[in-house]
Amino acid sequence: MKTFCGRANPTTGSMEWLEEGEDYDYHQEIARSRYADMLHDKDRNVKYYQGIRAAVSRVKERGEKAIVLDIGTGTGLLSMMAASAGADFCYAIEVFKPMANAAVKIVEKNGFSDKIKVINKHSTEVTVGPDGDMQCRANILVTELFDTELIGEGALPTYEHAHKYLVEEGCEAVPHRATVYVQLVESKRMWSWKKLFPVHVEAEDGEKILVPPSEMENCPGVPSVCDIQLNQMPLSDFTTLSDVVTMFSVDFSKPVQSASTYYRVQLEPVKSGKAQIVLSWWDIDMDPSGMINCTMAPYWVKPTSALQWRDHWMQCVYFLPNEEPVLQGEKLYLTACRDEYSVWYNLQKAREGENKADEEEHKADVRVESPVCRCRAHLLWNRARFGELNDQNRTRQYIRSLRKVLKTDSVCLCISDGSLLPVLAHYLGAKQVRCMQPSRIDLYHPHELQQAFFKANHLEDKIKIIEARPELLKPSHLADKKISVLVGEPFFTTSLLPWHNLYFWYARTAVSTHLASNVTVLPQSASLHMMIVEFQDLWRIRSPCGICEGFDVQTMDDMIKDSLNFRESKEAEPHPLWEYPCKSLSDPQEVLTFDFTKTVPQHCLSTEGSVKLLRKGKSHGAVLWMEYHLAADVSVSTGLMQMSNEKGNCEWNPHCKQAVYFFSSVIESEILSDPTAVTYAINFDTKTGEVAMDFKL
Ligand code: SAH
Repeated sequence: MKTFCGRANPTTGSMEWLEEGEDYDYHQEIARSRYADMLHDKDRNVKYYQGIRAAVSRVKERGEKAIVLDIGTGTGLLSMMAASAGADFCYAIEVFKPMANAAVKIVEKNGFSDKIKVINKHSTEVTVGPDGDMQCRANILVTELFDTELIGEGALPTYEHAHKYLVEEGCEAVPHRATVYVQLVESKRMWSWKKLFPVHVEAEDGEKILVPPSEMENCPGVPSVCDIQLNQMPLSDFTTLSDVVTMFSVDFSKPVQSASTYYRVQLEPVKSGKAQIVLSWWDIDMDPSGMINCTMAPYWVKPTSALQWRDHWMQCVYFLPNEEPVLQGEKLYLTACRDEYSVWYNLQKAREGENKADEEEHKADVRVESPVCRCRAHLLWNRARFGELNDQNRTRQYIRSLRKVLKTDSVCLCISDGSLLPVLAHYLGAKQVRCMQPSRIDLYHPHELQQAFFKANHLEDKIKIIEARPELLKPSHLADKKISVLVGEPFFTTSLLPWHNLYFWYARTAVSTHLASNVTVLPQSASLHMMIVEFQDLWRIRSPCGICEGFDVQTMDDMIKDSLNFRESKEAEPHPLWEYPCKSLSDPQEVLTFDFTKTVPQHCLSTEGSVKLLRKGKSHGAVLWMEYHLAADVSVSTGLMQMSNEKGNCEWNPHCKQAVYFFSSVIESEILSDPTAVTYAINFDTKTGEVAMDFKL
């Protein structure tokens, strides 16, 4: 079946209709899936295997047959573990059809077809009985349905249903229980992902302070989890205000309730400070004794044990609704509220001389509804964007370059989403400032947010918002004046890959007739940069596994490879590299430049060349990023910030995702007197806005 799917091209801004075969989605899903990462997660796999063996033994010791229900079997791995451990029969449930098909093949290849029945259904559709999918209820329940937030993939409703309809009372469960831990911290860096801080500007007529609208000040934000590789967060970026506290546990061997609820713990700060953030992670005990434990605890919590790198489970950052000053030793209540799929937190102070009865009263104060963003900013901007807008160094670069180009008679148009630039341009003396937010995200009313921002700073009469798209700009929008300064960060909400922000160039081209002949465009140009890297860990997510705990899962490897080669799946993918350490094997190289003082050309921009591998290591792929040249000697990088030492360790822009192009085969370079070279061909198609790449090692 073919369907047509409409979308705005993120780079060119034009609407396009794409013909999608029904295969397209699932190839994308498989190509970008976490299955490879899970299969590489040795710690997880070993512990599941131990837990499954122990559960099968316990059932056998009771003289019962071991009947396993494996919900979300994926590759069939956990069922094969159970069958090897002596289970009599396994029902392996998988809702995603391509995976269920893969599981059938993998199970057959490993010789377990007579012990494992793969059922391609959602677990809640599975029937039990003589004519059902399952002959009888199972007495061992095995699942791996967890995300970083534990419950975000629907583990609770799935367990609730399974206990009611699919497993026996008193069944064994692997994992047996999950426990969620929290730690209260103060962190300017992480708090800057939730709140907009005031911006200080040295204007002609004294210092100006730009403040966010009051709705934003008290906005509870959105309940979507902020999951990050907390192990990449240096200790200098946060202060722990409490010990690690157990927030709640779920026993998977007993009936599970998924209905909304809350959990409350009392804690005493170990330090005075500003409570802003709740860091959280979980662990799972594979058996009732708790001897087989798989934990997501970050490095400072379990400094002695070796950390298993994984990307399918990380840690969570929760933002308290408001910053709360707390004192060492004072009595606090931390509440975790949850619905079926997400968790959010509240902090309350205990009142003087409080006792148990008062505590009950507190419960009435607990807000169990999930947070709803009232200010719109949390709907329009992701956490990284908040961080970027709060980055004072970056703002200073823009101020410095605006100062160079603005004059008192400047007619300025700013094209960027949710930007501070219009306000900065006004404070720095531009005569007329207009702004345009051209991304097609009208659903969230970006103009109202921008307007609220201007109002909060009494600028609603000074800066006008043009609601038209660039190609529909009319002289009347500009009070019949020509634009003398066109500015953009550029940043657009719809951008995923670094070059998607080249949309600024297309918008600039669309407004060409409105530009004065001596117009200044800021940034004046952009350049695409590239470097060959060896990843410390990220390579695992796209690398074949072969044999996993003795089971042949090559079918899965082949399937991922197929999907990666399917049409445009073989392309660069966005990753925030501050979370994924790598070392550079080559020097960074500028590969393409984009001249914003001119319109987008009709022809493609292409380049070919070679880079030398200067360091010893494995070439996993190329990293690409954009740099914007704001003014004569001011540039901002959305990628590499610094290459710190001889070893090639890199520091990346913490607010941006870089593009990663994984090579299909890895080469290992030695230091040679004549270093190996990687040749590349990179093409920017100005019609489609796509960047195509080819590398030869
Ligand atoms: N068990 C495998 C794969 C885990 S990934 C392993 O440990 O390696 C989780 C899988 O569960 C996904 O393939 C997803 O499609 C499937 N899934 C999630 N919820 C499900 C449900 N309620 N019923 C059936 N499949 C489910």
